[in-house]
Parts: sequence; C-alpha cells; structure tokens
Amino acid sequence: MNEAQKCSECGGKLETGFIPDISMAAAFKTSWHRGEADDKTILDYVKYGPGLKYDRSKVIAIQAFRCTQCGLLKMYANPSTSD
Ligand SMILES: [Zn+2]
Repeated sequence: MNEAQKCSECGGKLETGFIPDISMAAAFKTSWHRGEADDKTILDYVKYGPGLKYDRSKVIAIQAFRCTQCGLLKMYANPSTSD
C-alpha cells in the first residue's frame, strides 16, 4: 500500500491502521472470510457454543486506512499483507 495515497472523498492523507477484534481478554486483527456466514441466531450460540464456523484457509486479515481529515475508512483484504 502506498503511504502517499489520498482520500477519495476529500483528498486528505490516509494513515495506516487496523481494526482490532476485541473479545474476552485478547485482541486480534479483524479478517475477511470468503463465502457466506452461517445463519446462527443468538439462541444457537447459547445452545451450541459461541462463534461462527470458519475455514482458516479462507481468512485474510484486513488492513485499514483512515483519512486524517474526514475519517473515511478504506480497507483491503490482501493475502500479501496477512500474517
Ligand atoms: Zn477524507
């Protein structure tokens, strides 16, 4: 990602960041997953346990950029920037 990239809305400078997924006592990078999420309801989570089903091979970490002027967020899910 080019650090000199400008905001598509206002032309402001984009700064690099990420969106932490904070749960329990830990934080992780938010990720994109190919395909549809399962359609569990909150009652299913109580009955069968927490969390969506996922395939680790289909997960790509999200890199986010924030405009320093208007706050617009621009995100990429590029495998080359994933862990
Ligand atoms: Zn902007």
